[in-house]
Amino acid sequence: MSSKSIQLELGFRGVICASFGSTDDTAGRDTGQRPRYDVHFTSASPESLAELRTTLDRSRVGVHLVLVGSPADVHAAAATAADCGMLDAEMTLVCDEHGPWVVCCGHCHVGTATTAPKGSEVVCQGCGIVLATTDHFSRRFGGYLGYSAHAEEAS
Ligand SMILES: [Zn+2]
Repeated sequence: MSSKSIQLELGFRGVICASFGSTDDTAGRDTGQRPRYDVHFTSASPESLAELRTTLDRSRVGVHLVLVGSPADVHAAAATAADCGMLDAEMTLVCDEHGPWVVCCGHCHVGTATTAPKGSEVVCQGCGIVLATTDHFSRRFGGYLGYSAHAEEAS
């Protein structure tokens, strides 16, 4: 894609540390003796995720991926990595619990990023209903599932 694209040798079998946002503490992480490749993105934008995908496509077999950043970014990147065929065991997710996280609407399936405390009610960006959030994490949607907060009251 772009000329600044990741230069990673084909068949890389070390540890890829991808950090997002202002978080930049991958340097201090002990990843053992394996070769290591650090990459930093401003956010998990479509462009960043496309670049990550390219990197994983070049290295995939035998690589370990460490993702550091806000839950919203880390989970989006993990969903991309899973889509590339990476297994949970091949990824380490390091989430900044103070960063934005994503609620996935159980009704319209649109993800809404929020910085509200876990368990808060969040208004869905897709369909506008108020969502009660759950602890149920969906890797497919890259976020925590939410359901209509006031459905029970209506019935
Ligand atoms: Zn919705």
